[in-house]
Amino acid sequence: MSGEKRNSEIVYSFKCPSCETGTIDIVKSIYDLPDGDKMLILKFECGDCNFHKNDIIPLTTNMDPGIMTLKVTNENDLKSKIYRSPLGKLEIPELELIVEPGPRADFYYTNVEGVLYRFENAVSLYRKNLTEGNPELDEIEDILNNLREALLGNFEFTLKITDSGGGSYIIPKDKSTYKFEKLERKKSE
Ligand SMILES: [Zn+2]
Repeated sequence: MSGEKRNSEIVYSFKCPSCETGTIDIVKSIYDLPDGDKMLILKFECGDCNFHKNDIIPLTTNMDPGIMTLKVTNENDLKSKIYRSPLGKLEIPELELIVEPGPRADFYYTNVEGVLYRFENAVSLYRKNLTEGNPELDEIEDILNNLREALLGNFEFTLKITDSGGGSYIIPKDKSTYKFEKLERKKSE
C-alpha cells in the first residue's frame, strides 16, 4: 500500500494469547492516501512469536474502556466488525453466552457472524457430551436453535462487550444499533 504514514502510537499492550510469553502491542497509525482520504490501520504484533494481524478501521472508532452494545436484528447487522481484546468480556444475554476476559481465551477478531459460529461450535460440542435424559438437554437445544436462527438474521439479540482496560471495539454496519457507555480506565498489570 502506498501513502504517507504518520502518528504511529502504541494504544494498548497485553500478553500474547498465542505464545503466552511475548507482549502484543497494538499500534495505531493514520495513513494519508494520495486522494486525500485518511485511514486508520491497527497492527497487532507479538515480539516473541509470529502472531500478527492487521485491521483497517474508521478513524472515528472508539477503543476507550467502556461497555459497547450492539443490537442485532437482521442479516446486515451480522457483518458488523467485532474485536474483543483479552481484557474484554463478550456476552449475548438472550442466549446466556459469555466469554470471560483472559489472554488464554480466543481472540474475537471477527464479525458478529463469526462470533455466532464460534458459539455454535462450542455449544454443539457441549451438547454431544450430554447423555439422553439429562435435564439440561432441552435448554441446550433451545440455545442451539436460537443460535442457528440468529445466523440467518431471524433472532434478535444484543452483543455486549465490557472492557475495563480498553482496546476492544465494534464497528457497526448500522450506527443506530450501537451504543457506548464510558468506563474509567483501570490500571492493568
Ligand atoms: Zn506471541
